[in-house]
Amino acid sequence: MTAATHSSLFPQVPESADAVLDGLDPEQREVATALHGPVCVLAGAGTGKTRAITHRIAYGVRAGILQPTSVLAVTFTNRAAGEMRGRLRQLGAGGVQARTFHSAALRQLQYFWPKAVGGNLPRLLERKVQLVAEAAARCRIRLDRNELRDVTSEIEWSKVTQTVPGDYPAVVAKTQRDAPRDPAEISQIYATYEELKRDRSVIDFEDVLLLTVAILQDRHDIADHVRRQYQHFVVDEYQDVSPLQQRLLDLWLGDRDTLCVVGDASQTIYSFTGATPDHLLNFRTRHPNATVVNLVRDYRSTPQVVHLANGLLGQARGRAAEHRLELVSQREPGPEPACTEYPDEPSEAEGTARRIRDLIATGVPAGEIAVLYRVNSQSEVYEQALADAGVPYQLRGAERFFERAEVREAGVALRGAARAGGNDSLLDDAEGLPAEVRAVLSTKGWTQQPPAGSGAVRDRWESLAALVRLAEDFERAKPGATLSDLVAELDERAAAQHAPTVQGVSLASLHSAKGLEWDAVFLVGLTEGMMPITYARTDEQIEEERRLLYVGVTRARLHLSLSWSLSRSPGGRAGRRPSRFLHGLRPGSMPLGARGTAGGGGIERGPAGPVAKRGRRGPARCRVCGRTLTDAGEMKLMRCEDCPSDMDEALYERLHDWRAVRAKEIGQPAFCVFTDKTLMAIAEAVPGSEGELAVISGVGARKLGRFGTAVLAICAGETVEEVLGQAADEM
Ligand code: ATP
Ligand code: MG
Repeated sequence: MTAATHSSLFPQVPESADAVLDGLDPEQREVATALHGPVCVLAGAGTGKTRAITHRIAYGVRAGILQPTSVLAVTFTNRAAGEMRGRLRQLGAGGVQARTFHSAALRQLQYFWPKAVGGNLPRLLERKVQLVAEAAARCRIRLDRNELRDVTSEIEWSKVTQTVPGDYPAVVAKTQRDAPRDPAEISQIYATYEELKRDRSVIDFEDVLLLTVAILQDRHDIADHVRRQYQHFVVDEYQDVSPLQQRLLDLWLGDRDTLCVVGDASQTIYSFTGATPDHLLNFRTRHPNATVVNLVRDYRSTPQVVHLANGLLGQARGRAAEHRLELVSQREPGPEPACTEYPDEPSEAEGTARRIRDLIATGVPAGEIAVLYRVNSQSEVYEQALADAGVPYQLRGAERFFERAEVREAGVALRGAARAGGNDSLLDDAEGLPAEVRAVLSTKGWTQQPPAGSGAVRDRWESLAALVRLAEDFERAKPGATLSDLVAELDERAAAQHAPTVQGVSLASLHSAKGLEWDAVFLVGLTEGMMPITYARTDEQIEEERRLLYVGVTRARLHLSLSWSLSRSPGGRAGRRPSRFLHGLRPGSMPLGARGTAGGGGIERGPAGPVAKRGRRGPARCRVCGRTLTDAGEMKLMRCEDCPSDMDEALYERLHDWRAVRAKEIGQPAFCVFTDKTLMAIAEAVPGSEGELAVISGVGARKLGRFGTAVLAICAGETVEEVLGQAADEM
């Protein structure tokens, strides 16, 4: 989040359009003043892309060239949209729409539905997993938890790439997509899922875009209406635009090209959902008269952070990597990034909380610190550790601030008090507005000291405390302001969704941290299996994980910490390895050139070679943390889903390659040979005998007889070619 001092919360609005341009460098200024025709900004993290487009809109509005209501700014998350509205308002350009594709489409859909379709818009489905599970059950296909997640993602991918159920198998074959189940099965589940939705009159997240596209395509009158309303379009984080979002953008534009896009191909982190940086990278081909601007100065991070970021990207491969931009820090030098290995997860969390407490003690505001992780379930241990260390934190996105029940209640109470002219008897005149606000909010649960512990009570208190701080800042910025002035300010902010900074350490996933920045960033849990995540297998998927880590690193302005732990719980087996992405970046790790790479998947071996052979433990206990397992998928893996996999990735890749060939030979889908789960379990257990292989779930006597020799040979280190060659010899 941006700095939360009162001067930045209530800055002076620039006096003129030209004053808006102050504080931009020459290239950013070029972006801001190119108000006509297509504009494309290709630039690395922290170079001021978002700043440039925000100033561009503000400059256009303030100079009277752009009508505020005719501009639609599209950003990636609600939080980023909220932040952009805040920035626009500070620059004197409130009233401009800044939304996500989704919220912009939803608004149009709600407005035009009665006219285009009739009746009310169907209810929006919050989560699809439940309905996908139901669809699978109807098709008599059993899915475990992981498969359910994977099939749901496949349905989402199909929808954003505008692939209908019947076409799915053919598209998979054509694009050589690695489907998590038999494509025919997925197609069947997808079709049934769509039917269930229709029967129940619900629509899902992707339908919002699909239906808007359909209406704009079919109804020229409605498309004209929308095009009359919006004349200028600005898209942030354009590297992650999906084909469906691009289609919507094209429909909004019609035959105009009043479009400004900004992005960084090295920060593409949603290609697993069907997004692609191609639209960004091919922008000039599509718009030959486009103004293309590169920004290279990194204003966000210190040379130390930038050096690590450049090093990380230096190892990247693939199309996005070809377009990488070396960042040049504009800041004073700062501390070296810290790399810390911990024996187990609780010590990692405690160590992190301790370092955060120390930073706060040296004056870094809690709101300027973030802990970022790969998957949301990692947050829990950090919540606990921060609560134990007495450090305030927040999990929720700032964009919802004004929607929170306690904030709405507080608003009602403040409005009531303002109408009553304030309750003067409660006040100490010298303190004025803040005292008045504290008095009103104390009836809603605000107290001088925060409540002990974490959870809902603490969350509520944090929200009220944020309002108290806002009142204090407001009073400092506008001495003599009354409660009514504050209520008006709150209303205006609520309308603009510009939340005050909650003064807590942010706990967020790497994906949700996109576009944001903090003084201090802690990247935690950086082990193989978490970063890259276990289910990233192909080269492209691994590269996307690397970019995700790059996004994490480049969120830090000054302090950067990278950490991992060797086991999940104290006393557990230290089977985890630090993320491969850290090789060559942390002190004492192998130089980049010395790393070996495995064939096929291109996945790197650990410096010590394949992990040692392991025997199998009890069938119903997690190998990593020892918890008793009940879930079928977890039992198959012999570990909790959340416990990082310590499997030998190179072995997994070889098994995967072998399976593809065998499946083709016998003319069956790959999962008929072995499912992904079983392959993972094999790559984790590295069986050394038929007995060890036979106990792995999903192997069974028939498959043992058919594939056992080959699998054991691969586990013993033979190459896929050798194994397949032998099979051919035997025939
Ligand atoms: P990301 O790729 O992470 O989205 P970005 O390119 O959008 O980054 P911004 O968030 O716009 O970068 O800017 C990064 C930081 O640098 C912000 O704090 C911004 O205010 C600051 N900044 C950008 N340009 C300038 C400038 N010309 N002078 C001073 N500070 C700047
Ligand atoms: Mg940005």
